[in-house]
Amino acid sequence: MQQTIERLRQRLNTLNYKYYVEAAPEVSDYEYDTLLRELQELEAAHPEFFDPNSPTQRVGSDLANTFNSVAHRYPMLSLSNTYSLEELHDFVERIEREEGKVEFVCELKFDGTAISIIYENGRLVRAVTRGDGTRGDDVTANIRTIRSVPLVLQGEGIPPYLEMRGEVIMPHASFNRLNAEREEAGDAPFANPRNAAAGTIKLQSSAEVARRGLDCFLYYMVGEGLPHQNQWDNLQAARGWGLKISDRMQKCSSWEEIADYITRTDSERSALPYDTDGAVIKVNDYATQRRLGSTAKAPRWAVAYKFKAEQALSRLLSVDFQVGRTGAITPVANLEPVQLAGTIVKRASLHNADQIALLDVRVGDMVYVEKGGEIIPKITGVELSERTEECLPFEYIDRCPECGTSLVRIEGEAKHYCPNEEGCTPQIVGRIIHFISRKAMNIEGIGDETAELLYKSGLIKNIADLYSVQPQQIASLPRMGIKSAENIMHQLSLSREVPFSRVLFALGIRFVGETTAKYLAQHFRSMDALVAASEAELAEADEVGEKIARSIRAYFDDERNVAIINRLREVGLKMEEEERDVVSDRLAGVSIVISGSFERHSRDELKALIELNGGKNLAAV
Ligand code: NAD
Repeated sequence: MQQTIERLRQRLNTLNYKYYVEAAPEVSDYEYDTLLRELQELEAAHPEFFDPNSPTQRVGSDLANTFNSVAHRYPMLSLSNTYSLEELHDFVERIEREEGKVEFVCELKFDGTAISIIYENGRLVRAVTRGDGTRGDDVTANIRTIRSVPLVLQGEGIPPYLEMRGEVIMPHASFNRLNAEREEAGDAPFANPRNAAAGTIKLQSSAEVARRGLDCFLYYMVGEGLPHQNQWDNLQAARGWGLKISDRMQKCSSWEEIADYITRTDSERSALPYDTDGAVIKVNDYATQRRLGSTAKAPRWAVAYKFKAEQALSRLLSVDFQVGRTGAITPVANLEPVQLAGTIVKRASLHNADQIALLDVRVGDMVYVEKGGEIIPKITGVELSERTEECLPFEYIDRCPECGTSLVRIEGEAKHYCPNEEGCTPQIVGRIIHFISRKAMNIEGIGDETAELLYKSGLIKNIADLYSVQPQQIASLPRMGIKSAENIMHQLSLSREVPFSRVLFALGIRFVGETTAKYLAQHFRSMDALVAASEAELAEADEVGEKIARSIRAYFDDERNVAIINRLREVGLKMEEEERDVVSDRLAGVSIVISGSFERHSRDELKALIELNGGKNLAAV
């Protein structure tokens, strides 16, 4: 028994780490909660194996070692949760038995990451993650970029020391945009808005945080000298001071009202522009809250009722394999059309070979599809009771569906790749389409189809060929005339003005998205410096980790790529970052080394400031 308990504890600790620190969960919340409950029950039956460090006794920790950790003045707890209305009813009954008639406040359970924002004399001084509940990471600079978080409060009765607890969320619009950009850059998309929010507030560059479009709802007030002695009135007061408080909360004084709130929120939540994963039911009055108290992990006066994700059941008809411009293979399921959360779903993501093996999905199976905030729904499970003998184990492809080359798998990456960069049509055409796209070289007049035609007709083989093709050749293509050909030539000549960072992005180096390209351009200033940089030097630029550095190095180590870059240089594309205009000479004659991590600016932002003021950056003392 002790062994089973230990094994469960270890498994849950691993899952916690993946979820809170890496923001990349391995299993669904429901699965995690089931394991946790199993452990709780075993521990209750065997008190002799009690351990204060068990995941049942502690708040899952998000502490990372790249931020300053600070102690919470008041502990930041989690919530106990249930997926069952019956258990929720028990919770309400138990409290009424102990306390008599009680008023509850029902709120949305926002699916993001917890934050504590501290105001002193009405000014935002610090923002800290939940961490392990006792200490959290200081992410003030990042939180200051969220527009709905006021830096200064307005109004009467603001306590001199005020802590607002809330949830940082990523609205669907921001999430979809971010994931589209990541896919475009060949980067793994975030699994859901919660992970995206948790990952974003732990970024080193606040400029990048600002760009990603987070939002924040506040739902709890702590401090001394609060204006009221209950949850509801304090939140109304907070709203008056300019803090963002949801208007979807409700005071309830009976079980019927609570049950009604839950049914309503569950049916309305798919229309909200952000994710919620349940409702939170809290005792309103503070004196009653204090009498009920807390465990080490969660208050006894509140509980989260978690919604099960909206699901539909449908038959898996077939699996397509798409080849991206970086060669990454993505399996996509074709389903019998089924209604899910207001839309008809025909296709769903299967992510990669591991995911298919983990779920043991087979063609012909009835499968569960779920929609989070994702662009395309995903398959989350199989209804085994409906499996027939005709459903054979799925065999993942080992050759590229487009060119037949044997697929490879890079260690540490989930996807298979087709290595035939120079001969696999969707990769070549994909790179050309990426090069001319709006955010890259912005060459209007060549659409996806024209790009494919240019390649298939043999006029161009790579992005550099675009600049040597003749107008008559383009005009000879189907549906093209001399006018459109001349327009394309004009657009190509305009692309010589596109800044270096976008040229770099346009090359389509794996993992180098629009933002990474900007950071690289700021850091290295020229293509020559980039080509000469070692992996370790590359990783010194903001937001460039080992994986990205390795990919960039591999790209420049390939002579064919260097040859293409040289041809692009010859036709006049920008290979250097423009010099910044100096705004002052306050640092003239001063050399500065920037290293380590900073609260308000990223390293590259500081370096830019130094240059703007006439100073010089050095890499080392
Ligand atoms: P939780 O997310 O279930 O609930 C507590 C949190 O809810 C609070 O910390 C707060 O951040 C948030 N919240 C949102 N709206 C709120 C409101 N109106 N009032 C109060 N709080 C509100 O708890 P948790 O401790 O952050 O995480 C535990 C849960 O995370 C588990 O139940 C599990 O579902 C999930 N988890 C999953 C994995 C996995 O591998 N899939 C691993 C660890 C944890």
